[in-house]
Amino acid sequence: MNLTFLGSGCWQGIPAPFQDDKISKEVKWGSKDFRFRTSLLITTQKGSKILVEATPDIRLQSWKFNLSKPDAILVSHWHWDHLFGLLDIAWFSEKNKVTVYGNSTTKKWYDSRIAHVPVNFITFESYRSFEIDNLKITPLKVNHVDETDGFLFEDKDSGKKFAYLSDLYEIPLETEGLIKGTEAVITDATYLESDISDDSTHLQKNQFNQFLKKIISKEIILTGMTPVFKTLSLNVFGIVWRIIPAAF
Ligand SMILES: [Zn+2]
Repeated sequence: MNLTFLGSGCWQGIPAPFQDDKISKEVKWGSKDFRFRTSLLITTQKGSKILVEATPDIRLQSWKFNLSKPDAILVSHWHWDHLFGLLDIAWFSEKNKVTVYGNSTTKKWYDSRIAHVPVNFITFESYRSFEIDNLKITPLKVNHVDETDGFLFEDKDSGKKFAYLSDLYEIPLETEGLIKGTEAVITDATYLESDISDDSTHLQKNQFNQFLKKIISKEIILTGMTPVFKTLSLNVFGIVWRIIPAAF
């Protein structure tokens, strides 16, 4: 199994529109601070390509990383920075229908807003695993908005697992149990540097501290960066975090 980070930016990406913050003003195309919206590409042992999230940057991500048609697109929740990239592949999908996996709320948003994009939509349920090649995929319920999932990926040959929990403010006990012992947890760093009281849908600094105590994983990888983050390291809670350099 191979994992490529196609983006680690928050909903607006970095630079943000109209450069209304310091980092967005300074960031250069191709620099380490340039971040597409959060997305992953998983390549299985047999060569199947699984795209995690259909971001509004999907066109440039597919160009930058030389992607061909993915065998599946997994969508964690209906927010536009995770789902609405499907609009950009409407023309492509008319000729090469893509397969999209999402929960029932995501399906409702697809049906009501973007059903003119022809896809093969498969609805999943939290904690009900499905398989693509030798990869076992378990949707994990997380608390963010409405119905939101993360994913647990398990390579059935090696037994190695990692979790992707992109947007959340806390995790249910069942999810907490399932991500124990993973090689890595990829998770939400949106407000890691500050406590912002008017958005309760993402982990904030105090909640992140609690969240860290629950995660028993070899590595924690941060994603969903806002423009407050600077390039390669960040010192929070006395830990110097490695910020994903492969965002662009
Ligand atoms: Zn979200």
